[in-house]
Amino acid sequence: MSQVIRSPKQYDVCIIGSGAGGGMAAKVLTEGGLNCALLEAGPEVHPEKDFKMLMWPYEAPHRGAGVGGRARENFGEFLAPNGAWHIEGEPYTSAPGSDFQWFRSRIVGGRTNHWGRIALRFAPVDFKSKTRDGLGDDWPITYEDLSPYYDKVESYIGVFGTKENVPSAPDGVFLPPPKPRCTELMVKKACDKLNITCIPSRLAILTKSVNGRLPCHYCGQCGRGCITASNFSSSQVLIPPALKTGKLTMITGAKPRAPKNASTPEPSSWPPAPANRRACCSIPNPLYSPQESPTPPARSADT
Ligand SMILES: Cc1cc2nc3c(=O)[nH]c(=O)nc-3n(C[C@H](O)[C@H](O)[C@H](O)COP(=O)(O)OP(=O)(O)OC[C@H]3O[C@@H](n4cnc5c(N)ncnc54)[C@H](O)[C@@H]3O)c2cc1C
Ligand code: SF4
Repeated sequence: MSQVIRSPKQYDVCIIGSGAGGGMAAKVLTEGGLNCALLEAGPEVHPEKDFKMLMWPYEAPHRGAGVGGRARENFGEFLAPNGAWHIEGEPYTSAPGSDFQWFRSRIVGGRTNHWGRIALRFAPVDFKSKTRDGLGDDWPITYEDLSPYYDKVESYIGVFGTKENVPSAPDGVFLPPPKPRCTELMVKKACDKLNITCIPSRLAILTKSVNGRLPCHYCGQCGRGCITASNFSSSQVLIPPALKTGKLTMITGAKPRAPKNASTPEPSSWPPAPANRRACCSIPNPLYSPQESPTPPARSADT
């Protein structure tokens, strides 16, 4: 009897996660000509309808605080992370005596949908912490090695700031900063009097149009996600150009079971995937199960 043997599609690269790191990898590698698969644990995001930039408090259940105020723990119902401090099925530990917590987003763009947009460079000394104070390790590369890449990233994503020659906060390729507000002028005056350095922040927010993205209109709702893409998010600034190359296959609601290398046990020894999960790479998001909800429901910015 004849048998059809299907050969699975082979990719040059498999990228895991579509946030700051994965999104940039997807853009650079696909624009460089490589065929990439991107596995993203969370659901798709559609900024124009999912981001709550223009939503009134009375339009949100419980005015954004969630039942019993519980949504506040995960940044409230307006914000755009779709994540949590603790995610079922994703163990998290901290060192004895430490209660260090690490917020995790599970959605296309990851934490870049709601990060603070403070876009600072490491300083030369940050690459030499062991030499400086004996803690951590020195990096195998220096600030000078990385600096041209900071230049490229800042030029592409758009970061405002001012050149100040502060050794711990190297200058970059900056858009002009917005004008200071009255309160900021007062703080600056007081700092000058006390001889404290006071400079405009460096934020990945456009004060001028960049690559067709509109400049900020100062609504002050960056954490909710910016519908006009005037601040940087991977979901709006990195993933779309990567998809446009035609070389990116993005699979949402998907995780790799395990990278396979010489020291990885054979797949048969891994726990089998439950029947409702796709074969190699699907652990449903605890917040949005892709099987139940292929796109985020209206309250995508809940957590
Ligand atoms: C509230 C908040 C404010 C912040 N503000 C700032 C700031 O102002 N300045 C600053 O520099 N940094 C800030 N950060 C930190 C910054 O957002 C992160 O350092 C950055 O997004 C990390 O990039 P990443 O690619 O490692 O992870 P993320 O951007 O979180 O992306 C990870 C992606 O991988 C997916 N994923 C995770 N595990 C898997 C898996 N097993 N399989 C498939 N997909 C997976 C996730 O769903 C997610 O989409 C902030 C973070 C938070 C939470
Ligand atoms: S970048 Fe500007 S326009 Fe966009 S959410 Fe932030 S303040 Fe509003």
